[in-house]
Amino acid sequence: MNAFPNSTVGTNTAVAGLESTFADELGALTVPWQGAHAPDPTLLVLNEQLAASLRLEVRALRSEDGVGVLSGSTAPAGTKPVAMAYSGHQFGGYAPLLGDGRALLLGELVNSDGQRVDLHLKGSGPTPFSRGGDGFAVVGPMLREYLVSEAMYALGIPTTRALSVVATGQHVRRYGAEPGAVLARVAASHLRVGTFEYAVRQGDVLQPLADYAIARHYPQLTELPAERENNRYLTFFEAVVEAQAYLMAKWMLTGFVHGVMNTDNTTISGQTIDYGPCAFLDAFDPAAVFSSIDHGGRYAFGNQPAVLKWNLARLAETLLTLIDSTPDDAITAVSAVLDTFDERYDGHYATGMAAKLGLAGTLVERALIDDLLTLLEEHGADWTGTFRALADELRGNSTPLDGLVPREHIGPWLERWRGALTNHGRGAAETANAMDRVNPLYIPRNHQLDATLRAATDGDLAPFENLLEVVTHPFDRRDEWSDYTTPAPQSFNQTFQTFCGT
Ligand code: AMP
Ligand code: MG
Repeated sequence: MNAFPNSTVGTNTAVAGLESTFADELGALTVPWQGAHAPDPTLLVLNEQLAASLRLEVRALRSEDGVGVLSGSTAPAGTKPVAMAYSGHQFGGYAPLLGDGRALLLGELVNSDGQRVDLHLKGSGPTPFSRGGDGFAVVGPMLREYLVSEAMYALGIPTTRALSVVATGQHVRRYGAEPGAVLARVAASHLRVGTFEYAVRQGDVLQPLADYAIARHYPQLTELPAERENNRYLTFFEAVVEAQAYLMAKWMLTGFVHGVMNTDNTTISGQTIDYGPCAFLDAFDPAAVFSSIDHGGRYAFGNQPAVLKWNLARLAETLLTLIDSTPDDAITAVSAVLDTFDERYDGHYATGMAAKLGLAGTLVERALIDDLLTLLEEHGADWTGTFRALADELRGNSTPLDGLVPREHIGPWLERWRGALTNHGRGAAETANAMDRVNPLYIPRNHQLDATLRAATDGDLAPFENLLEVVTHPFDRRDEWSDYTTPAPQSFNQTFQTFCGT
């Protein structure tokens, strides 16, 4: 669908080294395109560490040329920016054509670890995939993605990352006029389940897409045969199931609610993508929903593993013809792999919970985990705070836990937990310190993030910069950061909502 010719040839050299293997090898899934003009681009935040790992020069990025590239206004020399096509199941319903309605893939960079990553802009203006949308984004939500994705990275959760946010100097209509902005995002790739859903309906491009995804994300599989036994595409599916089961366990252990787990927001790489309506739990609640449009609670916190498995089934459907020419055999084969999801997820979750409870390396009795979760839910206890309070409990300080769950309720559970710790054979102080290394003190608390984004939209970036510093050091206790551990007041959480596509 190369129907829209690129109208400019870039001369900008601020971002060097961009390659375009995706656009070159899978042109049928792209439309060459360019960003909209930004009337007065201003760099709001630049991730200098990430820039260095991409071997990009910070000074060049901060220059007028650099900001031009990061705003989407000018294309780097020699590159072929494209909008990517994809489909997706949104809230369970199939949308045959979504695609980058307000985004561009500038190209790929090879980072200092030798990994190929995408450099992508979000909010860079309308494309042929914009449908009814304006193609733009605004300062608050782009800073939101920047901060939350960098917090996730600091928490050790696979995620796309944020390189910069540039204010465009143009006003965009939302709930009123808001300042426009462009986020530069770095990802292992932008291949989604929805990319496969689109490709399978285009015929010829499916196998090249699968081969590209394998070469880029699971290169160890390139040598496998295409035939049934040890089938390359079946093993590819298995690798995605594994990567996503691992990711999901990380989300659930951290209290992360993605909010819009449509298949176009489920990656092939196993990275978290799309930070539109996401939020972190304060009080532990499997039914927690923050997104303003998730009326049925499809993407509620506790539903996420089941929804992910559903999304992976949509991926499986796209791969059937590659896996076996006999449809029934292909279905049997992918079903057997899909059936391993629960065990993989449960295994990663149990391993993570063991570490959170100071029992790393042991098989924790499932009931010990489930009974804790029941207590936390019954008492609306703060998820993040609880695990730090348990470590304090081991140090002989019971005040934090007393503020979360009444002792008469959690007492019997604490006895069982202490029993398990005794079997583990470590001293209390050593266990507490090990717990503090895996249980974050600071997460992006919804009320704090909201306040910093409001200030940033009004031109004051200082609260955002402070919060960014805190959440990118989630395990480092500092006295001056004590306010950042406080959950939102009840009144805030009762009305707090998040929004997609804003
Ligand atoms: P998301 O909810 O961010 O996953 O987006 C779903 C789809 O809507 C994607 O195809 C986006 O490109 C598109 N989209 C979201 N916001 C806009 C916008 N302001 N203009 C055009 N397309 C948009
Ligand atoms: Mg999306």
